[in-house]
Amino acid sequence: MTVPTQRIELRSFGKGGIHPQTRKRDTASSPIEPMVPLPSEVWLPLIQHLGEPATPLVKKGDRVIRGQKIADGGATGSPLHATISGKVKPIDKRPHPTLVTVPSIIIARDGDAEEEFPEDPAWRETPHAEMLARIRDAGIVGLGGAAFPTYRKLTLPPGVNVDTFILNGAECEPFLTSDYRLMLEEPEAIVEGALAMARLLGVKRVLVGVEADKMPAVESLRTAARSVPLGEQTFEVVPCEVRYPQGAERQLVTSLTGRTIPPRSLPSAVGVLVQNVATAHAVYHALRYRRPLLDRVMTVTGPGVLQPRNLRVPVGTLLQTLVDACGGMRVDTTRLIAGGPMMGRALPRLDLPVIKGMNGLLLLTGRGPLEEGFGPCIQCGRCLDACPLGLEPDQVSVHIEAGRTLDTDPFGPLDCYECGCCTYVCPSGRPLLQFMQVAKSALRRATDIRVKT
Ligand code: SF4
Ligand code: SF4
Repeated sequence: MTVPTQRIELRSFGKGGIHPQTRKRDTASSPIEPMVPLPSEVWLPLIQHLGEPATPLVKKGDRVIRGQKIADGGATGSPLHATISGKVKPIDKRPHPTLVTVPSIIIARDGDAEEEFPEDPAWRETPHAEMLARIRDAGIVGLGGAAFPTYRKLTLPPGVNVDTFILNGAECEPFLTSDYRLMLEEPEAIVEGALAMARLLGVKRVLVGVEADKMPAVESLRTAARSVPLGEQTFEVVPCEVRYPQGAERQLVTSLTGRTIPPRSLPSAVGVLVQNVATAHAVYHALRYRRPLLDRVMTVTGPGVLQPRNLRVPVGTLLQTLVDACGGMRVDTTRLIAGGPMMGRALPRLDLPVIKGMNGLLLLTGRGPLEEGFGPCIQCGRCLDACPLGLEPDQVSVHIEAGRTLDTDPFGPLDCYECGCCTYVCPSGRPLLQFMQVAKSALRRATDIRVKT
């Protein structure tokens, strides 16, 4: 990671945010390496996207090859593909990183065969409906973490227009470098994928937000953009202030365009559509080669792992296999997190599969913040200053402690996108993000009940 040596004006958002240590040094210079050998088994949950669960097209005992479609996405979901070649085991419930257990297709590897994906030389002229179909058939979902099917995000509702396509290369979460390495190593695919999605939307302006501690990635994308035909489109890579959560959609839209997304609205409300760099990379391969999403680049890092690395792994690979490929885990590892330390999800175990929306595995040592307990609110106001949305997590927390959870609505829990800035700055160690989650779910339940009665 490098910071710019000459003074350049860095774009940023207005309110809130924090400056945690980026901790990316362990893997920033680790090239993306393939998983060798491929895992002996993968678990492919039928739910790893937003939308209806996928429906299996295979059964126990079937032989499948890598790249073969094995589950249909239905009207709102996303299909699944075999990520290794082998035999299908019984389709049953297996542990899932976010949903406890989910019906999953298990494949035991018995070879290295792979479907062929010949190039479509005229791919840039693909009609829009066919582009959407290829993206849908490839099983691509938002790879920045949301896992919303990409073909749905690219299908704008009637009356909604966008004039700006934003490519999110901020990767503001500490520790993670998978997007950074992809921008350095395969920038042409990212640029082409972004331009293609913008063409699909009829958008001429493409902006890319990259935090300024990743200037090699800025240069890499700029160089790549000079080698692809732009036509009437523009492609601008914009260095942004290193400030968490720069990569949150709301913040990045403001940083790059000066526009403010209204509460509980999508970026399209201000004429913008945002996609992550890894999604653009997958879209390029789907359009040019009809290649489905089979692999994810994962940063495996943190003080608990012996050899931090960036690995390209088949979706469905067990996390234990990743840790083994990185030399194993230190005995004093205390916490496992899918993703980064700010917005990642704590995991209870390593016999869980990599799912499409996952971009890192973090192994931490030492005591977690909540194990120390927490004190009363001393009304210092730091959480108010840190919240990028201007919410009041202090008020939410004291109302919950007083047993008035349903009175927290005016303080914003339903708008909270769980960035964790408030928890990070609180001198009393109060778990403010968790208080926001409790309030949000109680308010949502209460609203459901009121609607039903
Ligand atoms: S977690 Fe929610 S309340 Fe806390 S800073 Fe982020 S958006 Fe604001
Ligand atoms: S940062 Fe903590 S102590 Fe300070 S106002 Fe917020 S909740 Fe209270």
